[in-house]
Amino acid sequence: MTSYPRLLSPLQVAGVTLPNRMVMGAMHTRLETMDRPIERLAAFYASRARGEIALILTGGYAPVPEGVMDDGGLVLDRPEQLGEHRPITEAVAKAGGRIVLQILHAGRYARTASCVAPSAIKARINAFGPRALTTDEVWKTIDAFANTAALAEQAGYAGVEIMGSEGYLINEFTAALTNQRTDAFGGNVEGRIKLPVEVVKAVRARVGRAFMVIYRISTIDLMDGGMTGAEVAELARRVETAGADMINTGIGWHEAAVPTMAAPVPRAAWLDAIRNVKRAVSIPVMASNRINTPEIAEEIIASGAADLVSMARPLLADPDFAKKARLGNADEINTCIACNQACLDYIFTDRVATCLVNPRAGREIDFVDAPSPTVRRFAVVGGGPAGMTFAIEAARRGHRVTLFDSARELGGQLNMAKKVPGKAEFNEMLRYFRVALERADVTVLLGTTATADDLANSVKTGEFDEVVLATGVVPRDPGIQGQDHRKVVTYIDVLGQGAGGRGGAIGEKVAIIGAGGIGFDVAEYLVGSTQETLDPNAFMAAWGVDTTLAAPGGLKAPSKHVPKRSVHMFQRRTESLGKNLGKSTGWILKAKLRKAQVTQTAGASYDRIDDQGLHITVNGERRVIDADTIVLCAGQVPSRALYDGLTARGVQAHLIGGADVAAELDARRAIDQATRLAVTF
Ligand code: NAP
Ligand code: SF4
Repeated sequence: MTSYPRLLSPLQVAGVTLPNRMVMGAMHTRLETMDRPIERLAAFYASRARGEIALILTGGYAPVPEGVMDDGGLVLDRPEQLGEHRPITEAVAKAGGRIVLQILHAGRYARTASCVAPSAIKARINAFGPRALTTDEVWKTIDAFANTAALAEQAGYAGVEIMGSEGYLINEFTAALTNQRTDAFGGNVEGRIKLPVEVVKAVRARVGRAFMVIYRISTIDLMDGGMTGAEVAELARRVETAGADMINTGIGWHEAAVPTMAAPVPRAAWLDAIRNVKRAVSIPVMASNRINTPEIAEEIIASGAADLVSMARPLLADPDFAKKARLGNADEINTCIACNQACLDYIFTDRVATCLVNPRAGREIDFVDAPSPTVRRFAVVGGGPAGMTFAIEAARRGHRVTLFDSARELGGQLNMAKKVPGKAEFNEMLRYFRVALERADVTVLLGTTATADDLANSVKTGEFDEVVLATGVVPRDPGIQGQDHRKVVTYIDVLGQGAGGRGGAIGEKVAIIGAGGIGFDVAEYLVGSTQETLDPNAFMAAWGVDTTLAAPGGLKAPSKHVPKRSVHMFQRRTESLGKNLGKSTGWILKAKLRKAQVTQTAGASYDRIDDQGLHITVNGERRVIDADTIVLCAGQVPSRALYDGLTARGVQAHLIGGADVAAELDARRAIDQATRLAVTF
């Protein structure tokens, strides 16, 4: 008896029987800019099909050149391009899956000088301003959608998804905010929804009955001047009547000031908006956003809010998500932690997407996963992400691995990260590692300090062939006069086991020295609310979301935040604080800290710490910050004593993670480096 009876039940859509209710949502990957793009895309999608996902949605292809996301972006508008698609559809079919092409016209989000929109109103997030389409051009655009759908059918896709959400062209037509037209495609709601209805009709007319037509609707725009819930429901009904076989759901525009999918958003937060669509139609509806476990997916379907779930990032994290759910091995799923660090942040900074927890994502053809020809014995020291990853990957290749950590629990710095509001998903990462270590048969020795003498002897006696050191980092000593004062603590005292450490309890007036990722994490820990990141109601109140969907765009005034303490952050550099935070998540953290009245000072030099507090100089002016706790978050240095000890004894160990490069220490780099090292043996 499965734990996910609804999730694993089949569903008939158009001419297709989907084997389960799990869909891989559309993602841009920039894979097409890499060497051997088609082979890479085909391998990327085929591995998800082998993992038994019922349906795959491609990243968006524009129906016309001016609809691309940016210069050189994907277009499907001519039969000559079909050669780029057949290897993809054939690879997916061979792997037993089905793939649907998403048609996306970027509208005013197109980062090109030729971008177009319903009206000439520039998006806050685009340097280019759009030109308004003429009525004739709107009809030509409708025809172009139908043309792309017909080409997709010829290429062997199982259907198309018409992208009508996230603030792209179609969504710009449906919202009064961006549609100030006076022709038949503007004005009242009837005029504003005419474009999507006509697109669905035109597409339906050009493809066979068995070919799936999916419409992705914006369930809640999260923009002032967006649609109301009643208007969204009307659009859903009209799209069904126009011939759509299924509706997928989108949440918020890309420029919305409310987070929609990053880790601070509670799981399955958007069900009210999704249920509004589901109630309006009789065709299947897909839920999306912050669905990352089979349990939550099953709950959504059981609640009646949707018939299927669309998961994009979770399929980057684990291509075998659906298969593991079917086999009852959900505890082996490598769960997406919604960090955005290696997917969205890579795409936004012109890099090819991959995944923090799965470096193979998008790089499938670069990794050979066959058993190693020679079995070796490894001693791995350090149970953080680097050490655990190496141990698992090496053991899966057939090697015999022993993992040592002097701590009594696995996880290293992940155990601190998981305590920060909005980072509870790190618990899933720890669960994945624990289960994977066990299933890969790694010998884990916790509370065991591996000394240089012991390791060197083990290598000499042949107990181990290789030593891998993932010994992590230690906090940098900033050398500030008075830093031994009782008021001073390190981030480890705050986020480590039991707050207090050297400095006793954290006071109400806190100064944080250093504003890297950890300085921001500490600030959020000291003023943030975990509840807001776990409970959808608390989240909606804090971010000003109208769950009644009565207001245009679904917005209302956010609740006030009364911070638990006053926190001041400092850095020596003169640039604004948080410049290096993730592009897609840094703004969320900064907005939360602003709301909690956390002050930020750049260009500070630290004169001394004494009973009065923290003495600093900023722009030549001396100031005293009245603080009862001062937290040092001044970066880290590699912990290499063991490496040096082994080198002195003639043993050449492999260094990975923060022990190798502390400045760039993060879980993404640690996991990537450990995986790549493991496949070399
Ligand atoms: P970091 O990012 O290198 O930041 C160190 C901070 O300390 C900087 O603000 C730096 O600014 C300051 N600093 C450096 N030397 C100092 C000195 N001698 N005296 C006083 N201040 C000094 O290091 P981190 O915050 O420890 O983070 C480490 C890594 O963890 C990061 O690279 C990041 O990738 C990862 N991390 C990421 C996240 C995330 O949200 N993505 C969260 C936590 C950690 P000034 O030099 O200007 O003073
Ligand atoms: Fe999920 Fe982070 Fe991987 Fe993106 S990088 S897929 S958010 S775990």
